[in-house]
Amino acid sequence: METGMTRNVVILGSGPAGLTAAIYTARADLNPLVIEGEPSSTSDQPGGQLMLTTEVENFPGFPGGIMGPQLMMSMREQAERFGAEIVTNKATKLDLARTPIGIWTGDPEAPEPDITTRSLIVATGARSLMLGVPNEARLLGYGVSTCATCDGFFFRGKRIAVIGGGDSAIEEALFLTKFGDSVTIIHRRKELRASKIMQDRAFKNEKIDFIWDSVVVDVLGDNNVSGLRIRDVNTGEERELDVDGVFVAIGHAPSTELFEGKLEMDGAGYLITTDGTNTTVRGVFACGDVQDHVYRQAVTAAGSGCMAAIDAERYLAGLE
Ligand code: NAP
Repeated sequence: METGMTRNVVILGSGPAGLTAAIYTARADLNPLVIEGEPSSTSDQPGGQLMLTTEVENFPGFPGGIMGPQLMMSMREQAERFGAEIVTNKATKLDLARTPIGIWTGDPEAPEPDITTRSLIVATGARSLMLGVPNEARLLGYGVSTCATCDGFFFRGKRIAVIGGGDSAIEEALFLTKFGDSVTIIHRRKELRASKIMQDRAFKNEKIDFIWDSVVVDVLGDNNVSGLRIRDVNTGEERELDVDGVFVAIGHAPSTELFEGKLEMDGAGYLITTDGTNTTVRGVFACGDVQDHVYRQAVTAAGSGCMAAIDAERYLAGLE
């Protein structure tokens, strides 16, 4: 990476939003720098949440489907082909009040930023909250999923469990009834948090049943999920439940810790964008799941990455 030079555009994040922004800004000759994140076992990693899924069947252009990691490798390759520079690193601090914008990637206490840039595209994504029980991470992609839209199809005729009691859990459960033989919602309380209308739909659906006042204490299975160990929170009694798939739907958290006090967020911590992808700071744009808790699809993230690139390009043109 060239140092000491002010960049035109830096992109934080390398999921579909970040890499699409990179493809577009690279093709616009803006020589983008992508700070892709660092390897981790969560969706907070280079490539984002698709690195944790198996086959993606709903990304247009791949009639035979494509593996999530392969799709991200292809996007990366495409961005690099047009000259995007991608570094495996994490921003540790930002100064959005200075011109040009300052980005620290090392010691956040250092007096000077490591990188300066005229514009910034934030595409740091969101991560699904996970249960944190023993075999959950190992079986992610092998029966454990966080996305019914992505993976529901693989559970045709199977027994499915959904964990959670909010709108996401109910939405996932309703969607999964198209595929599964049975869908069991396991909730830690006796009452759902989901909106009334969603609750009514779930209660009316014959394929859905509920296990109340219960938490998952382990995911069972060698190569694929074969069941769950659940505990009744009132009696402490544990039992095994045979299922082929488990969808964890206990909420998402946007990766916005870095922007606290710097960019406006909603109550759940998602960045607020207006008029396209503009954030509350001029020259800072946001795209993908970090600013979208509604659609959360690879294709919508990619679309908003394109919008952010065009917004940044126009902003930079206006500076000249
Ligand atoms: P949420 O409303 O925060 O619900 C999370 C659910 O997971 C809650 O029922 C919670 O239980 C449970 N939970 C949390 N941590 C858990 C843990 N460690 N173990 C077991 N259960 C746990 O999250 P969400 O459902 O993703 O919804 C987020 C926002 O998006 C909401 O505002 C929602 O209305 C909105 N949304 C709307 C729609 C729609 O309108 N179609 C669809 C999806 C999401 P407790 O209830 O006991 O806290």
